[in-house]
Amino acid sequence: MKNKALPNYTQTIPTGRFAPSPSGELHLGSLVAATASYLNAKKQQGRWLVRIDDIDGLRVKPGSEAAILRTLTDFGFEWDHLIRQSERLPVYQDAINTLLHTGYAYYCDCSRSAVLSRTNRIGYYDNYCRHRKLAPKKQQSIRVTTPNGNWSWHDEIQLAQQTDWQATLGDFIVQRSDDVFAYHLACAIDDSDFGVTEVVRGADLLDASAPQQYLQHLLQRSTPYYAHHPLLFDAQSGIKLSKASHAQPLNKSKATAQLCEVLHFLGQTPPTGYEKNSLSDCWLWAKQHWDITKVPTNHTTLTSN
Ligand code: GLU
Repeated sequence: MKNKALPNYTQTIPTGRFAPSPSGELHLGSLVAATASYLNAKKQQGRWLVRIDDIDGLRVKPGSEAAILRTLTDFGFEWDHLIRQSERLPVYQDAINTLLHTGYAYYCDCSRSAVLSRTNRIGYYDNYCRHRKLAPKKQQSIRVTTPNGNWSWHDEIQLAQQTDWQATLGDFIVQRSDDVFAYHLACAIDDSDFGVTEVVRGADLLDASAPQQYLQHLLQRSTPYYAHHPLLFDAQSGIKLSKASHAQPLNKSKATAQLCEVLHFLGQTPPTGYEKNSLSDCWLWAKQHWDITKVPTNHTTLTSN
């Protein structure tokens, strides 16, 4: 497999990344992920990449990418490289070909409703097509064969993790029946290709880590370390802040206050009244004092957004 026209990214420099989907504007929950990944990289004099997860055209909202980048700039983030997944399709295709050629992937013609009626579970596959040896055909998905047993790994914040493949997931999709590459595949490859050494992101993606590490393993690529921070929930609705739950977009005029709020949420303790300082002073304090061991595990901290 070849890396296509990449800068010379190796794993010698600590490298973090923030990977928003351009399906809406950034909100306070996104600021938590951006801040945690940024500070963890910057504390180690590392690089920080922004990756726009835009392979699924149906989820892309026009204007979102520009709005996301504008907000990041307004909030004082500086990135070393901008990656768009939509520009990396040949690399993902190479990986699919490799998985098929090495026998780790197979075609599947099960519809979502057929799987659901057999398993009664969402997000789980019963490996029905694993041995059917279907020939390539339009409107079939491609799945990767998962082993029996557990996948164990360590998360810097959530600590010891274990995934029992056949109890929780089964053979998962790497390319959808509409030909869109699956998030796990694209993410696993990009994290390796861009020399990402640390994936710091929200705990809603904790379960994504085992499939992504497994794909890196099958494709003989490097694996970063992982740290999944707790999620922000809206005080009134009790719902996780997300684009889907219509969380308020970040507001430039509140940047310093919101950064301080996020720092507190992440277990960091800027001095009382620090939000009255300039944004750059807050960043300076945060870069000097960031300590990932202080980030709480707990997901349920509430905020009034
Ligand atoms: N694009 C994904 C999201 O916005 C995040 C991917 C990641 O951090 O791995 O939920």
